[in-house]
Amino acid sequence: MFPIEDFTGVVTPFYYYDIKLLRETLTAINDCLAERPAYRVHYALKANANGAILDEIADAGLGADCVSGGEVRAALDAGIPADKVVFAGVGKTEAEIRLGLENGIACFNVESLPELEVINELAGDMGKKAPVAFRVNPDIDAHTHKYITTGTSENKFGIPLTQIEEVVAAAQGMDNVEIKGLHFHIGSQLLDMTPYAMLAETINRMLDEWEAKGISFKTINVGGGLGIDYDDPDGHPIPDFEGYFKVFDAIKLRDGQELHFELGRAVVAQFGSLITRVTYVKQGVNRKFAIVDAGFTDLIRPALYQAHHNIENLTAPADAPVEKYDVVGPICESTDCFARDEKLREVKRGDLLALRSAGAYGQIMASRYNLREIPASFYDLPGESKLTSKI
Ligand SMILES: *Cc1c(COP(=O)(O)O)cnc(C)c1O
Repeated sequence: MFPIEDFTGVVTPFYYYDIKLLRETLTAINDCLAERPAYRVHYALKANANGAILDEIADAGLGADCVSGGEVRAALDAGIPADKVVFAGVGKTEAEIRLGLENGIACFNVESLPELEVINELAGDMGKKAPVAFRVNPDIDAHTHKYITTGTSENKFGIPLTQIEEVVAAAQGMDNVEIKGLHFHIGSQLLDMTPYAMLAETINRMLDEWEAKGISFKTINVGGGLGIDYDDPDGHPIPDFEGYFKVFDAIKLRDGQELHFELGRAVVAQFGSLITRVTYVKQGVNRKFAIVDAGFTDLIRPALYQAHHNIENLTAPADAPVEKYDVVGPICESTDCFARDEKLREVKRGDLLALRSAGAYGQIMASRYNLREIPASFYDLPGESKLTSKI
């Protein structure tokens, strides 16, 4: 499945992007949406904002979920219409808010009362009305679902349930904001659908309560977080979008109400791999090390989250014996280790390894620590392969 001949002469490490798989993934999403006309998907740019990817996202008709002014600009530059761009984040600066207002984006997902006040003031200065949604922190039980890290009351994201009424009331009294909706985002890499089912229940309860108070919301945004199979990328190249959307079908949408989703990882993780060359194979006392030319500057997830990416030896003969290796990078930090005891076909100096499922939170998080280069990207488009130098 990797066009290894085309990799000859390409400077490693680099990201290989299988555009055909991205297109299949986007088609799978659009197939689910075709049966659900009130649903909209905004791609979360922070997972990967590579220009070629944004072009595909724009072509597929998805909107953009942005968390910085830079992302708002990138989404608009890629041709995603402003009325499909939403802007979240706990610390939006004045310049970023102005950028959103100038361009007429669809919605600011507001995370606090002080932020709402600044948006109202800046919109007034500019003679505009700012569309806002309130990011609610639904405090979904983190003890039963420990991987939920953004939806509990102790963390910095969103407005606690106990304060939401006060914030909505404040917004109603403001001249320069227009109340659009409610926003939620409970966490990332969720494979168990139970927390989403709990979220859907919470939303149904909230909609009833608000309706009783005479307040309705045009949009309900349930955020992103759908996980992918890091252990078996070939077995599950495309996430179960149908199963995911089905959970939210439990939400009793009112007439004209839209349900918004902000998927990042689930859209782009599986179509990307980090390709790296083995610089040395070193025999330790008890362990064998495959020292590669990629480091955590190229893919930080293993060092940052103890994440594991499947690794494959692309160039070893098919019948080479399988051995265990610690796959490590060149950076002078002991966390610069991609895997311990990874089973690989016998590794030799010069072999190419693929770190799989690296399309999300990979290249976009690259740094120049140690004055290393940002890895390039190699796209495999049907009938055309091309290398671009930078993100
Ligand atoms: C990060 C983020 C997302 C996307 O999360 P994934 O796990 O990549 O799907 C969506 N919405 C908000 C507000 C986010 O911060």
